[in-house]
Amino acid sequence: MVTALTEVAEGVFELRLPIPFEDGLVNVFLFVDGSEVDLLDCGMNSGDSLQLIHSTLADLGAKRLRTLVVTHIHPDHYGAAGVLAGPGKAELYLHRLEVPLVHPRYVELEQLVIEVRNYLRVNGVPEQEAEVLSNSQRALSQVVAPAEPTVQLDGAESLMLGRTPVRVEWTPGHSPGHICLYSASTGLLFAGDHVLPDLSPNIGLHPQSTPDPLHEYLDGLRRVAAYKPRLVLPAHGRPFSDVGGRVETLVEHHRRRMERVMSIVDGGELTGWEVALKLWGPREQLYERRLALQEGLAHLQALAVEGSLEKLVSKESVRWRRAS
Ligand SMILES: [Zn+2]
Ligand SMILES: [Zn+2]
Repeated sequence: MVTALTEVAEGVFELRLPIPFEDGLVNVFLFVDGSEVDLLDCGMNSGDSLQLIHSTLADLGAKRLRTLVVTHIHPDHYGAAGVLAGPGKAELYLHRLEVPLVHPRYVELEQLVIEVRNYLRVNGVPEQEAEVLSNSQRALSQVVAPAEPTVQLDGAESLMLGRTPVRVEWTPGHSPGHICLYSASTGLLFAGDHVLPDLSPNIGLHPQSTPDPLHEYLDGLRRVAAYKPRLVLPAHGRPFSDVGGRVETLVEHHRRRMERVMSIVDGGELTGWEVALKLWGPREQLYERRLALQEGLAHLQALAVEGSLEKLVSKESVRWRRAS
């Protein structure tokens, strides 16, 4: 199964692991130091994926997995953490804003299901649909084996992975504690889900997001572009070199979408759900409908923060209208 493995710099390997969504693959990275290996992201907690990690470690002559660094706690990046890290296993490094999200999302879901149902209802989702959507998270907990971090990151740390020094860059937006890693010696940017070559990563406002994720995300894009990396290694898709161009495209995409949201709200007073339906039309997949709502709300929130929209809240509803 060595075909899934590519050496991207001396002693640094990209491994492509299977996932059941997006384009079907997540890229993780192995950093070799003699018989020890450090890993960036770990795929899902599934037999196929873990088998591939273990056979790759054996092929590389690794006797021990030393450190697991996770870019963010989505199942395709963090799912196998509990299998690979923990007492007697690898050390787990995770940004501290991801840490409190793990338990409610993957271990005891009841409280989060209630919060999400309430969030969907106040944002205009019909009752039956809110019931189904709020429970849709449950399936994901089955592909995630959580682990407690041994080191909590803030951002700006210098780490040694394998024999490669890297700097942690905190890039919130897609997830509150998302991190990228930059290696100045090789010019490589390990971008996680922050900058992808083909997709615009989902930036959503929801009970587990930060309060203004879109502005944070755009700010993070500019920061990683300023590194001027030689090559970006994304978690999905193929490596690419023109980060400046890609960042410009993403910034422009969000700018146009904010304009579109403004024109949808127009003279009315709308819920996030009404805006999302007009932006994307009815989506087939339930999961996609929830993502569309979250993404629409992130744009509405950014416009309210900038003062272009008014955000009106009560116990029953959150509504948006043009600022007078
Ligand atoms: Zn993600
Ligand atoms: Zn991902």
